[in-house]
This record gives sequence, structure tokens and C-alpha cells, in this order.
Amino acid sequence: MAGGAATAGLRQALAAAGPDLWLRDARAPAALLPSASAALLAPADAEGLVRLDLRISHGRVAALAPLGTAPAGPSLDGGQLWPGLVDGHTHLDKGQIWPRSPNLGGDFPGALSAAAADRARWTEAGIEARFAFGLRCAEAHGSVALRTHLETPASWRVFRRLREAWSGRIALQASSIAPLEDFDGEQGRALADLVAAEGGALGMVTRLAGDAADPLPADFQPRLDAFFALAEARGLDLDLHVDESGETGARALREIAATALRRRFPHRIQCGHCCSLALQPEAHVRETLRLCAEAGLAVIVLPMCNLYLQDRNPGRTPRWRGVTLVHEMQAAGIPVSVASDNTRDPFLAYGDLDMVEVYREATRILHLDHPVAAWPRAATATPAAIMRLPEAGLLREGAPADLILFRARSWSEWLSRPQSDRIILRAGRLLEAAPPDWRELDGIEG
Ligand SMILES: [Zn+2]
Repeated sequence: MAGGAATAGLRQALAAAGPDLWLRDARAPAALLPSASAALLAPADAEGLVRLDLRISHGRVAALAPLGTAPAGPSLDGGQLWPGLVDGHTHLDKGQIWPRSPNLGGDFPGALSAAAADRARWTEAGIEARFAFGLRCAEAHGSVALRTHLETPASWRVFRRLREAWSGRIALQASSIAPLEDFDGEQGRALADLVAAEGGALGMVTRLAGDAADPLPADFQPRLDAFFALAEARGLDLDLHVDESGETGARALREIAATALRRRFPHRIQCGHCCSLALQPEAHVRETLRLCAEAGLAVIVLPMCNLYLQDRNPGRTPRWRGVTLVHEMQAAGIPVSVASDNTRDPFLAYGDLDMVEVYREATRILHLDHPVAAWPRAATATPAAIMRLPEAGLLREGAPADLILFRARSWSEWLSRPQSDRIILRAGRLLEAAPPDWRELDGIEG
């Protein structure tokens, strides 16, 4: 039987199943099982995968049981079983504008200017259409939670409506994004108040340049302290774009960690990108990682965007991958997530909010293999924890039965194809959703 026929048969069986069913003969990454459950199941194989049956009752995971426990039910035939995916860093208000505002130089300055020029065209209805398009992509690929950065007041109004409309489908969170200097004075207080009113995370962008030996600009530390104070006064988590360049003088990450420690900042901090760390002197790297670990700071890596934008020069082959030091971070105890970042906008011409693609590309770009070890958590449990979503990201008894069923068994099978035939269950029910047609975007915002 071809894989397609087997998948169709499984879909049929799932569509016909009632509110109580067993899924038989699955393989789950041990890293995605709570340790208490893993102890009751068979030991993981050499690839870190555990064979199991899983019972669903009334939309929730009712039991994780050793292979062969289930008396009947649809079989995965040894295919992998994952929880719903969590995309912790996206830009849904900016997404899908590539066709009208391409960045044909493909570099960071070109992205900034093309995106800034495009913003003049944004209408609230247009933002909503592009934003909802992104959500439909994410849902169809199996994401259950997503955080987006937002640029304009209209973006926040759209976010508020779509968070409500999508409740129960995608848990939607938002973070501000603006240069650090935009948080000066009354302007900064107003933006922080808006973020607080919408339950968001306070986000800004650092834009340091130059060489590692250059002193930091005199206004950097006072501004950083003022930014932290805005979050402290409102009880906000932070979600920052940090050192997204190949400039060795871009070293805000260490200052952010040191500031969090000095101020005893009590909330969560997620730092995105941190690209330049990979090019900085070894002693600086060690000190930065020590401070990040001590501050409890988490890092989110955007591998597709970094590979696309960093080290791009016309006529010259890129010499580095643009990504930060994830293995060193993991060894230092710093939580590391991976995420989509931009999709079809001047910062990345491609993308479909597909966390399977992100994880597959992250594996190739960052060598998250041999062994795969706990890296599947970077697309699931780790961002769920940063986003304070205790029910997402693990195959856990009692959690909603938001599951992804793959035909692929081993890592080689999983990473070799895009897994377009994956089957998605939401609250135990088969999800009948496909990514939307790009033609729906034609004509939006003129
Ligand atoms: Zn971003």
C-alpha cells in the first residue's frame, strides 16, 4: 500500500471515530513526554523515540500507555506523534506584502526601507486580511499557539479582534516592536500602556553597530534601564529583537542580561536573533552566556530569516549561516526555541508559518541532530513555557488532544520530506484545514 492510501485510510478512521478512541502504534519523541509518563512506557530507542498507544477521551489525552495496550482503534503504523506546535516569534501584521514590496537586494537595510515604505499602504481591513491569512496557514500546519510582534495601533486593534475570533483555535499573543529610542518619555509610556491593556509582552529592537572594541553609545544603558522600568511598573514580560546583524559591536545581549540581574527583573525575557554573538570574541561569548543563564533569559532563534538576511552581499557567497550559538546556549542552561519570524515580507521572501518546515530547516542549519536529543522541545514545550501556556507543547495526560500524526517513523524519514500529508487533530477531532490560496491576497491594500 502506498503511503498516500495509508494516510487516507487513517483519516477516514479518525473522521468516523467518536469522542473516545485509542491511537495505536505511535512513536513519540521522548523529549515531548513528561518524565513521569516516560518512565511508565518502553525505554526510548537509539533515536530518542518511544513506542506507545494514546487514548483520547472527550477532546483530551486520557492515557499514554505502552505499545499493545489499546484493544482497538486507528493505527499510526509506527508513525511519529507530536503535540501541536508553538510559534513564539512571528510578524503577522507585516506578512504577505512581498509581491508589492519585494526586497530585491535581500539584505537587512533593504528590508527595513522596503517595510517602512510599505507601512504607508496599510489599512485596518488589509492588516486583518493578511493577519488572518497567516493564522490560517499556521493552523493548517498544526500550530496551536503563536506570538506576533505588532507595529501600528491598527495592528493592535486587529490583534484584539482576531485573538477573540480565533479563541480555541490558536492561542494568540502579541508583543510590541520599536527601536529602543521610541520608548523615551510619554511616547514610551503610551506604548507600554497599550501593551499592558492587551496582555502583551513589551518588545523593542536593539541596533548597535561597529566593532567589539567600540564603546557602547552613552545613551544606551539609560534607555535600557528606562525600558525595563516601563515593564516593571506594568508587570510585563519582555520580548526583544537583539543583535540581529553580523556587527561585532552589536552586543546588547550581554547588557540586557546584566541589566535584568542588576534590577532583579522578575518577569520573563525572550531575546530573538542574537546573531552577532556567533562572531564575537570567545571571552565575550562566555561572559554573555553566563549572564544570560544567571538572568534566566530565553533565546528564540529565527533560522530561516537569519540564513536569508545575514552575510548577503551582491556577487559574494555568504560565509556564515547567520544564526546564534544554540548548542553553547543549551549547554549553559539557556532555554532555546525556534520560530518562523517573517513570512513573505521584505525580511524573508518565503515562509508559510509551518513550524515543521522551521524545525526541519533549523535541524539542517544548526545541526540539531546526531543526536536529536531534546531539540523537538524548541518548537513545542520551550516556547509554550515562555508564553505561559502550561497545557501546550507536551504529550501529557489531561492536556487537550491537539496532536499531529506523521507517516514518518524515524528522524531520517521525518526530515526528508515536508510532511505535507500530516494529520492534525484538534481536541481529538480531525482538522479539515488547508493553507489558504495566495490568490485571496490579490488586490489587498491596493
Ligand atoms: Zn522578528
